[in-house]
Amino acid sequence: MRGAVIHAPGDIRYETVDDARIQQPTDAVIRTAVTCVCGSDLWPYRGAEPTEHSHPMGHEYVGFVEEVGSEVTGLRPGQFVVGSFATSDNTCANCRNGFQSSCLNREFMSTCQAEYVRIPHAQGTLVATDGVPDERFWPGLLAVSDVLGTGWWAADAAEVTPGSTAVVVGDGAVGLCAVIAAKERGAERVIAMSRHESRQQLALEFGATDIVAERGEEGVARIKELTGGIGADSVLECVGTAQAMRQALHSARPGGSVGFVGMPHGVAVDGQELFFSHVGLRGGPAPVRRYLPDLIDRVLTGSIDPGKVFDLTLPLDQVAEGYRAMDERRAIKTLLAP
Ligand SMILES: [Zn+2]
Repeated sequence: MRGAVIHAPGDIRYETVDDARIQQPTDAVIRTAVTCVCGSDLWPYRGAEPTEHSHPMGHEYVGFVEEVGSEVTGLRPGQFVVGSFATSDNTCANCRNGFQSSCLNREFMSTCQAEYVRIPHAQGTLVATDGVPDERFWPGLLAVSDVLGTGWWAADAAEVTPGSTAVVVGDGAVGLCAVIAAKERGAERVIAMSRHESRQQLALEFGATDIVAERGEEGVARIKELTGGIGADSVLECVGTAQAMRQALHSARPGGSVGFVGMPHGVAVDGQELFFSHVGLRGGPAPVRRYLPDLIDRVLTGSIDPGKVFDLTLPLDQVAEGYRAMDERRAIKTLLAP
């Protein structure tokens, strides 16, 4: 089969790779319906994370069950399934507590920009839809599996409640999906921090009530102006840089919360500053599996359309161009179809 392999920063190739096959009795193999390029794939692409050996890429997928291992009883070939970038048995203590992305048997998916994908712990990881959804829903379901699930977790971790004010730091696909999440969870005001007009438009379409284009301390000052001088109830940090985290912590009111879901790079939090801020802080890899049934339902009933974050669709064999377009910010997020 063929799939995307990174050889060095900037060097993504679509080439022959090892066939996806059942290795454990708890595995399944799926045929990819659609996959995509993630903002976090740009860290190794840009050389911000080292690539010591060439390796496959991709952790987002929806697809059709092709084959299941002997211990998988809840899935059968032909079903359409949605999963997550983190696998989970969905039975251990952490899974039962709703933190499936800390499953004691967790594996991180890393081979999904390919024609077929092996899914470990398939029974706990995958959720099958009722029948095969219409193709127009596939981008939305793919968003559910990663960027929307992560934006949802940002809103959960930042404790967005009905009637509250939420600030979203970051206008990538996760940030835009975090706008959807804050609105769906009942925030009355959703302030999106974005400097890019096309992304501002999508944020407004997704339910943002205000846009703040300023960054850093200027951005914080604007948030304070908009919130009676004290800051927001909830701040959803969807970038992972030191500047974004600082901006998030300073934008929350005393007693407010920050949910941080961007993979941190060079972020350090000052203990004394956090102590005196009275701000709650929670983050980590999103427990997407917990949210899957609810989010799949919201997409298939048409109440949300997170698939709009995909503004470029390419055949899978043009995956290298998909990376380039995102790296050069010509695309928010690239959808890839085998
Ligand atoms: Zn588990």
